[in-house]
Amino acid sequence: MEYIEQSMNRAKNGNCKGDTLFFQALREVLVSIAPLIEKHPEYLDQHVIDRIMVPNRAIHFKIEWLDDDNVVHVNNGYRIQFNNALGPYKGGVRFHPSVNPDILKFLAFEQIFKNAITGLHIGGAKGGSDFDPKDKSDKEIMKFCQAFMAAFYNSIGADIDILGGDIGVGAREVGYLFGKYKQLTNSYDSIITSKPLSLGGSLGRIQATGYGLVYFTQTLLEDRGETLKGKICTISGSGNVAIHAIEKLYDIGAIPVTCSDSRGTIHDSNGIDLELLKNLKLERRASLEYYTLERKNATYVKRENYVQGSSFVWDIPCFAAFPCATQNELGENCAQLLIHNDVKIVAEGANMPTTPKAIELFVENKILFAPAKAANAGGVAVSVLEMSQNSSLNYLSSEKVDKRLRDIMSTIYIDLKKTCDEHNLGMDLISAANILGFKRVADAMIMQGV
Ligand code: NDP
Repeated sequence: MEYIEQSMNRAKNGNCKGDTLFFQALREVLVSIAPLIEKHPEYLDQHVIDRIMVPNRAIHFKIEWLDDDNVVHVNNGYRIQFNNALGPYKGGVRFHPSVNPDILKFLAFEQIFKNAITGLHIGGAKGGSDFDPKDKSDKEIMKFCQAFMAAFYNSIGADIDILGGDIGVGAREVGYLFGKYKQLTNSYDSIITSKPLSLGGSLGRIQATGYGLVYFTQTLLEDRGETLKGKICTISGSGNVAIHAIEKLYDIGAIPVTCSDSRGTIHDSNGIDLELLKNLKLERRASLEYYTLERKNATYVKRENYVQGSSFVWDIPCFAAFPCATQNELGENCAQLLIHNDVKIVAEGANMPTTPKAIELFVENKILFAPAKAANAGGVAVSVLEMSQNSSLNYLSSEKVDKRLRDIMSTIYIDLKKTCDEHNLGMDLISAANILGFKRVADAMIMQGV
């Protein structure tokens, strides 16, 4: 359709010059919504696409902090407040050396639609810094988090913009960020989620993205007369999302056999030793290479020995593949390996981990595909439960949170199926997720006027 290229050209020449990841995310949404636009030309008449593809506000700030030797460091900080048509901005904060405005714009853009798909009233945002938390002392992490918050605390608020965790930002960092906000404003407002329990966090929030991913995948499979029970599953990553996906896979009787970190990959054909993995990554913050010291039969492949774009996760034969590390980690070669090994379903735990070429191959080969916008929405859904518990002071048991999470993931699946039926999409859940998310946001924008 004509509007796709016209909008892409406007974006390319305008607000996303040089932004390759944002461009990739934008194209996927614009192509997917073609059946909706055909039925509802009013979205073009109202210029919703032009309005939706530009962030409301993009904040760039300087973070100055002192290391343990009193040496001054300067990092870049960002917050992209992309769209608040459905509610206050909501989205995580990422600390990683690769962070730049392009990555955050793509993540914030995806977050708008993911949040809309949950059916909860929140807008989309993302933030972060190019700060590298690796090998920093606890005191340095604290100082950095305090400087980050001090630099932009007046741009957020419990009804304005609520932060959360992401790569490099876990309970420890969230605690420091929250503590600094409280000190600067003298308020205990819920301006960040994924808080430790003692600071008003929700039971089940840490597990929510990984558990939600498995609930969504299992719901989808059950609807098609299949199950994950007894099946070999491959997982990439070994952070919050990957670890809790592995935990839930064990709970439902599946066999997770791989995990990876930024330095290498583990294959343990007897099933990943979850306690060892948690000890290494959550407690000791150590590299996965130490895994094989205790599990002699497992294999470890270092990143420098990866060949042809494969991380040695995706060449392991499996029934289900769960990319849970980072964007564009599963490319064309990996997709070919998975298809060759007869994978039945790919479910995205990370944000946009599958490249467009790899997605094309999965679609061509009729592999079931659960897109991140739906499959990893459990984290943000439980974050909203955390916000509501903070404001009502009425805290839920972990059983209640888990039940709400299951219900939300299954409602998302039902809504996507309905959208597939309405637009004759078959099992194209990528298009369904984009259409559903876009429609909810676009309708709210139109109702609020220009
Ligand atoms: P964490 O920081 O907890 O973990 C990230 C993990 O991925 C780490 O083990 C890291 O390795 C590994 N990793 C990073 N880059 C690579 C790479 N190139 N190859 C292999 N492994 C890599 O982050 P999360 O688990 O929270 O987030 C993972 C993904 O899930 C991200 O895309 C995030 O945006 C998405 N997500 C997270 C949510 C959440 O609730 N946390 C919610 C929704 C989406 P190392 O240990 O060496 O650093």
